[in-house]
Amino acid sequence: MPSLRPLPALRDNYIWMLADPEAGTALIVDPGEAGPVLDALAADGLALTTILLTHHHADHIGGVPELLARFPAAAVIAPYDDRIPAATRRVGHGDVVELVSPVARFEVLEVHGHTRSHIAYHGEGLVFCGDTLFSLGCGRLFEGTPAQMLDSLDRLAALPGNTRVCCAHEYTLANAAFARTVEPDNRALANRIDAARVQRAHHTPTLPAVLDEELAANPFLRVDAIADDRIPWPGNTKPPYRRVDRFAALRLAKDHFPA
Ligand code: ZN
Ligand code: FE
Repeated sequence: MPSLRPLPALRDNYIWMLADPEAGTALIVDPGEAGPVLDALAADGLALTTILLTHHHADHIGGVPELLARFPAAAVIAPYDDRIPAATRRVGHGDVVELVSPVARFEVLEVHGHTRSHIAYHGEGLVFCGDTLFSLGCGRLFEGTPAQMLDSLDRLAALPGNTRVCCAHEYTLANAAFARTVEPDNRALANRIDAARVQRAHHTPTLPAVLDEELAANPFLRVDAIADDRIPWPGNTKPPYRRVDRFAALRLAKDHFPA
């Protein structure tokens, strides 16, 4: 059975590692730096076979050259984007990544919005979604439109409810403050916040999240459920409200929410 763990990196990143201890191999996702990966591999006597990349930001790919220097045969799977130079294979929506060791199979999902080439990897009951979906939040729109991001989140929301959501940052409690202003009476949200507080008090990651729990608590997955008068509408927006307007209003309000 492969084992999954988030390796804390940089300020608040997680580099996800899926290891097969018997085969002595591991894959990692979005190594923003090499140190934590090299330490974890050495501690468990593992060889790195595969690096999955979700998008081009430095805090997700910065460690790739140093890891390749140590493991030159490792495959580097990446989206079609020249800003990720080290790829050995490019993948896009619907492609399948079949790995021999550790044995794993992932389907690639296009999840544009945070960047214009962001992808996610779904398989093994997991989704590696980079900076698209966070627990109780979603990624900022650096290169995409609200409509693109909403499409991406809809795609993730349609995965099986027991999917474990492997986000690339520990943002849960920071996101909680905004989520609570939108749905102060949401019991599932309150429960998630309580659980996350305990986890952080024990210096434990709040991730992976469970998709079903996010669907019940994450305002960015709940654009259809949130009451009109709880949406922080900008300016003089008037009904009828389109779904994408609801999402855009939430994302904009979160951008300006005191951190
Ligand atoms: Zn990013
Ligand atoms: Fe990031």
